[in-house]
Amino acid sequence: MVDTKENYLQIKNNMISVLEKCGRKPEDATLIAVSKTKPVEMLQPVYDAGCRDFGENKVQEIMDKIDKLPSDIRWHMIGHLQTNKVKYIVDKVYMIHSVDSVHLAEAISKEAVKKNVTVKILLEINVAEEESKFGVTLQAGRELYEKVSELPNLQICGLMTIAPYVENPEENRQYFANLRELSVDLFSKNNDNKDGVSLSMGMSGDYEVALEEGATMIRVGSSIFGERVYTV
Ligand SMILES: *Cc1c(COP(=O)(O)O)cnc(C)c1O
Repeated sequence: MVDTKENYLQIKNNMISVLEKCGRKPEDATLIAVSKTKPVEMLQPVYDAGCRDFGENKVQEIMDKIDKLPSDIRWHMIGHLQTNKVKYIVDKVYMIHSVDSVHLAEAISKEAVKKNVTVKILLEINVAEEESKFGVTLQAGRELYEKVSELPNLQICGLMTIAPYVENPEENRQYFANLRELSVDLFSKNNDNKDGVSLSMGMSGDYEVALEEGATMIRVGSSIFGERVYTV
């Protein structure tokens, strides 16, 4: 079986050394353990190793796991979210990384008002404009930001992107830089975020490059939990 604790600690240490190499502090970035498709028995050792941030991409799976694991875990919704499922997770997850339309933001806002909570969100940008991915283009980022900013009970914490799957992570460096530039552009004036702007970018194959380009959250799955097997 995969030693998820050992893998987590290795990535965490590597994250810290990359941050230090580029003059950043260890606490400048959070390692989110992406545990989708994996059973809670594999998450517990990672929790025991100190991880409190877990990423999931399905509403039902988050709800199942929340009940079985300690309550101080911050659950990050990183997958495409349907408006009809918003109500189940709005007050249960720490942050929704995948807000890719005004329509979805409106649904989250409406539910947040109803439940009297403020929901932390990131806007998903499809920097590389891949057909297969959700998120708006860099050009459409400002319009999405401005419209979502007007909605109540949402805190726009920053931006998220899923870079293309590549052999050589250097190929994604420009996309990460582009996301950071957009964040500077959008958040420099009007930032009510005392923790700074969040940039959720970088996965197993390219998180080091993402950190060099300013990632504050990296989402690492297979390097911690092993390859995912999807059964249809
Ligand atoms: C699955 C997933 C990840 C983790 O990918 P790995 O390559 O396994 O590290 C990160 N972000 C999102 C949005 C994902 O869906």
